[in-house]
Amino acid sequence: MAQDGRYIPEPIKRQIRQRCGFGCVICGLPLYEYEHMREWSIAKEHDPDEMTILCPTHHAEKTRGLLPVEDVLAANRRPRNLRFGLSEAFPLRYSGDSCLVNLGSNRIVHDFSRDAIVPALTIRGCPVIRIKREDGRLLLSLRIFDRQGRLLLDINENELLFSIDSWDVELVGKRLTIRKGLRVILAQVDFYAPSAIVINRGNFSYDGFEVQVAPDHIFLEKYNIRMEKTSALMNGGGGFYFD
Ligand SMILES: [Zn+2]
Repeated sequence: MAQDGRYIPEPIKRQIRQRCGFGCVICGLPLYEYEHMREWSIAKEHDPDEMTILCPTHHAEKTRGLLPVEDVLAANRRPRNLRFGLSEAFPLRYSGDSCLVNLGSNRIVHDFSRDAIVPALTIRGCPVIRIKREDGRLLLSLRIFDRQGRLLLDINENELLFSIDSWDVELVGKRLTIRKGLRVILAQVDFYAPSAIVINRGNFSYDGFEVQVAPDHIFLEKYNIRMEKTSALMNGGGGFYFD
């Protein structure tokens, strides 16, 4: 195993981020790096108890000696997200006059010629995905619930927040993955800012209705309907609507 920290096995990374509430232990941002807290611990290979997660800003502060190791150790014992039960808000950069929503290979393009609020995905009256154009800005909202109705992911007008109740939450590249257990994905969403959102996997449920999403189709259990590769262009209204 590499001793310089470049390669960290996936189960060890997961153990660290679960313990740290899926965010920088200082500020809670879900954009982070895995860090050895003390220099001497690097020699101990990857002992998860000696490691933590820090966002790029707090990592740089620590590297420069501006953030004392004692502060990192203290935050690691009481990570920010565990104290709040929620992540710090992460900004998404959506903008422009058009947004593509791809739900398991089914594509709807929403074109905006004026300010409007569009229900892009509605399940039993609940706006799961909503796109709003306001003063030339494009504001994406997305809510993901588990079967018990707990809100696990809440993107509110481009501000991404998640609950720490999930088994695993990970933002890698532009892909957010929420898992219920080992290899059990509750939702996998790719953010192609400024103008597309792609949902590859997941179980989106609300009020007992479930939409199962795979990369090449969606499945509506209630009606035993499979939808794949549909395509639509919307001007100011409509979207996926399941009831
Ligand atoms: Zn931070």
